[in-house]
Amino acid sequence: MSSNRAVAYIKPGMVEVRNTDFPTLELQDGPGVAPQNVGRKCRHGVILKVLATNICGSDQHMVRGRTTAPEGLVLGHEITGEVVERGPDVEFIDVGDVVSVPFNIACGRCRNCKQRNTGICLNVNPARPGAAYGYVDMGGWVGGQAEYVMVPYADFNLLRFPDADQAREKLLDLTMLSDIFPTGFHGAVTAGAGVGSTVYVAGAGPVGLAAAASAHLLGAAVVIVGDLNAERLAQARAFGCETVDVSRGPVEEQIAEILGVPEVDAAVDAVGFEARAHGPDAGEASATVLNSVMGLTRAGGALGIPGLYVTDDPGGVDDDARSGTLKVRLGLGWAKSLSFTTGQCPVMRYHRGLMMAILHERVHIAKAVNATVIDLEDAPRGYAEFDQGAARKYVLDPSGALTGVRPV
Ligand code: NAD
Ligand code: ZN
Ligand code: ZN
Repeated sequence: MSSNRAVAYIKPGMVEVRNTDFPTLELQDGPGVAPQNVGRKCRHGVILKVLATNICGSDQHMVRGRTTAPEGLVLGHEITGEVVERGPDVEFIDVGDVVSVPFNIACGRCRNCKQRNTGICLNVNPARPGAAYGYVDMGGWVGGQAEYVMVPYADFNLLRFPDADQAREKLLDLTMLSDIFPTGFHGAVTAGAGVGSTVYVAGAGPVGLAAAASAHLLGAAVVIVGDLNAERLAQARAFGCETVDVSRGPVEEQIAEILGVPEVDAAVDAVGFEARAHGPDAGEASATVLNSVMGLTRAGGALGIPGLYVTDDPGGVDDDARSGTLKVRLGLGWAKSLSFTTGQCPVMRYHRGLMMAILHERVHIAKAVNATVIDLEDAPRGYAEFDQGAARKYVLDPSGALTGVRPV
């Protein structure tokens, strides 16, 4: 077990599957590892054999060269696995457990973790609050698009599935618990989606589709998904969403065609800083979705903003964009008394309940996002197709655990 095949970021537009070191219960130096984290002992950690690990739109920001990710960074923050080794300080997780890993790394001891804000843990990233596996500026914790990965603070972070055999049968759905299902759900909850509500979700990528499925689960009367990608809009219609094509022009008019009024109760930004302006052949304009959802959400409503915004964007269209400075119409949002929720999703707040919804087949998240299994060695193809806008959520299968597994 000396080698560990893993997906590494090489340069804009390129990832490669490489031999990397087998993980240990100590954070070793490597690409992107924060200097103060080098040599950090993880007696509280476990080593997982990875059973499923997904490619995310958040990875694409790095692979498109829109961040300062270093060459060689091992990617992957959406991880489900089997425990193969446990550190001496782990008490309640055992070898053989099948577990979901929240993409946020959290210590369980700091002020924010104690308040369930695990997306901004204060103790895991010397550079800023919050950490994740395989992500630029997130502490340097090695990514899990690999055969094996180390997870620190295992007792706190891991969600153990109640029955390992049942978990393996439902793995294609359960793999969405590490990020996009809780993230979409958080977007819907913080937007105020509830029974009888009307909801607009900007973005029909996997996070947007997960937010739409979550709004249904929360009892929304109408869920409208907007994108410019026709194939992704068709995927949203496949599970009962209405859709608007933002390349046709203003979203309000199309919402009025569906609802009779040009506004919704709740809106989710599942796009982020690489947003395209509305209308035909429009270029990138980072504040588009934020300004649009402020316009189309009812006064007193709320905006869930899981879409990612950055502090540094080497590929930004101008100086402002390069420092993550956006032209947002805050006056409009203020006048309407809107509430905003931004940031990493605190996965742990939601993953247990959403696991129960999957295990009892109350939701069909793998179908909603069109989960598509590919070999770990095919990751470069998965990245390329996802970048082209395929209406799929790519799930890498490093250990053959997904052979024959179907959506619930
Ligand atoms: P994705 O890139 O697959 O999807 C984004 C979609 O937005 C694309 O289909 C694109 O065509 C569409 N789009 C672009 N401009 C638009 C506009 N003006 N209106 C409507 N749609 C538009 O990404 P994804 O995997 O679905 O992730 C979505 C966002 O969520 C990303 O920014 C990602 O980084 C972020 N994310 C955040 C968290 C969190 O914890 N907050 C977790 C996961 C992902
Ligand atoms: Zn993700
Ligand atoms: Zn913490």
